[in-house]
Amino acid sequence: MSRPLSAALSASARLSSKNSIYARASAGSAFRSGRVGVIDSSGLKLTYTIRGCSIHGRGEKRGIGRLGDWAITSLLNLPISQSPNTPISQSPEVLMERFDVVVIGAGGMGAAAAYYLARDGRRALLVEQFTVGHSRGSSHGGSRIIRHSYVEREYATLAPHAFALWRQVQAESGARLLADTGGLDFAPPDYPTLLGRLETLGALGLPYRLYAQDELRHDFPQFRLPAGWLALYQTDAGVLSATRCVETLAGQAVRRGATVWENSRVLSVQPDGAGVRMEIDGHAGRQIVLADQAVLTAGPWAGRFLDELGITAAYAAPLRVTHQQLVYMEVAQAARPLFAADRCPVYIGLPMPYFYGFPIWERPGQLKVGREMDGPAIDPDGERSVDADAVAEVEAWVAETLVGVIPKAVSVEKCLYTLSPDGHFLIDRHPQHPQVLIAAGFSGRGFKFVVTTGRLLADLAASAPGDYSSPLWRETFRLDRFVSGKKLSPSVDTANL
Ligand SMILES: Cc1cc2nc3c(=O)[nH]c(=O)nc-3n(C[C@H](O)[C@H](O)[C@H](O)COP(=O)(O)OP(=O)(O)OC[C@H]3O[C@@H](n4cnc5c(N)ncnc54)[C@H](O)[C@@H]3O)c2cc1C
Repeated sequence: MSRPLSAALSASARLSSKNSIYARASAGSAFRSGRVGVIDSSGLKLTYTIRGCSIHGRGEKRGIGRLGDWAITSLLNLPISQSPNTPISQSPEVLMERFDVVVIGAGGMGAAAAYYLARDGRRALLVEQFTVGHSRGSSHGGSRIIRHSYVEREYATLAPHAFALWRQVQAESGARLLADTGGLDFAPPDYPTLLGRLETLGALGLPYRLYAQDELRHDFPQFRLPAGWLALYQTDAGVLSATRCVETLAGQAVRRGATVWENSRVLSVQPDGAGVRMEIDGHAGRQIVLADQAVLTAGPWAGRFLDELGITAAYAAPLRVTHQQLVYMEVAQAARPLFAADRCPVYIGLPMPYFYGFPIWERPGQLKVGREMDGPAIDPDGERSVDADAVAEVEAWVAETLVGVIPKAVSVEKCLYTLSPDGHFLIDRHPQHPQVLIAAGFSGRGFKFVVTTGRLLADLAASAPGDYSSPLWRETFRLDRFVSGKKLSPSVDTANL
């Protein structure tokens, strides 16, 4: 029979933070299959044998030594045989690890957070339920748009930071992550998102050019717009190679000392005193991981944690996950030079439902076009089927708009959006447990801001609760905007890419 250490102790010794605790390892540096001893304040020494217990952390010593107080609380919950000094025979295998910060979810946001935390010298663990670069979340695939043109200044002023940080990661890693292609936004001349973007770009002094149709046909003959539409061109726009970006960030995090666990699912996140206790089902079985801080970057799966951590109940902040799909099409041989990345900008048709696309980039002779899909909320673990009607709409849009592209889907890729109620990001500390950081609800526009979000999370993790002095912080990210009764200011930027 097994019972918690606290129960085993209660009859003969009281455990307090003044007690010292020590462990003798039977092998290696971890206290695996070792004896754990407790000396209570009266000097009474009790020893217990714990199997499969691996302890790291502040105060760790090889052989006999004092461990930090955290070990006492965490050991209290370990199953242990009833009588002291008896090897455990029936207790489940429990491994215990300790890190400064655990990052939950290795999509773009988590990989970047782990990278910047490791850069800051924090002992970071990045946990991913699948593998880094998998295709079941939101950060996979060969391309994402990066650009400056936003109606809202919060994002338009963040974009230059994003460009700078991506270039830094690119230079440090040697991987090609970003291609500068320029970008075009199309819309009728009075379309509010177009007018708003023009105003913001002008106010911030960011370069752009407004094309009427004749001029556009001259410079970019591969595009055909409805009569009277305008095209906003910005040189500062381009393509990020999404999967490569995630893999590179995770790789650079490891290079700087972070640990990555793949195929490891975080089952629970519990604030534990000033720290956090997590249960993880991973490569080595079930493990308890303790950390000073946890960073929640679970993308479409974040809702479950927000429920468990009381956020959903306390704030009207439900996240809605929707299916999205991207359609690959063949470019006619003669038109391929015009759709090459050095001739063809990224492009967005602003009116809803918005369409967007890329030059030939990921696959030889093919390009990728998407259409925003505002379907029902879905379960991220549920089945994913192709919406044939939406594919047909993309084919029709391409037939009208892209000259020289064969408007027939050759393949379709699925992806997930995670939408916040007002379309703005949710990046903040947990209000009651500031050691838990949350980053979620990045909808269709998050990827370009992966690096600014990762850097911001590391800044928040390094500063005191209430300190929002990071230059990458924006008031729109606050969690308490969802306090019931408060009026939300939904994003007015229609093409939310
Ligand atoms: C079709 C499409 C097109 C887009 N286009 C653009 C664009 O052009 N420009 C742009 O800027 N943005 C774009 N985006 C948005 C951008 O890609 C997302 O906002 C961003 O990738 C979100 O990243 P994330 O890290 O929050 O989520 P994810 O990438 O989904 O990462 C979350 C991770 O957490 C892991 N996880 C979840 N629960 C657990 C658990 N319990 N234990 C361990 N791991 C867990 C998941 O497996 C996953 O890997 C697009 C998105 C889509 C879907």
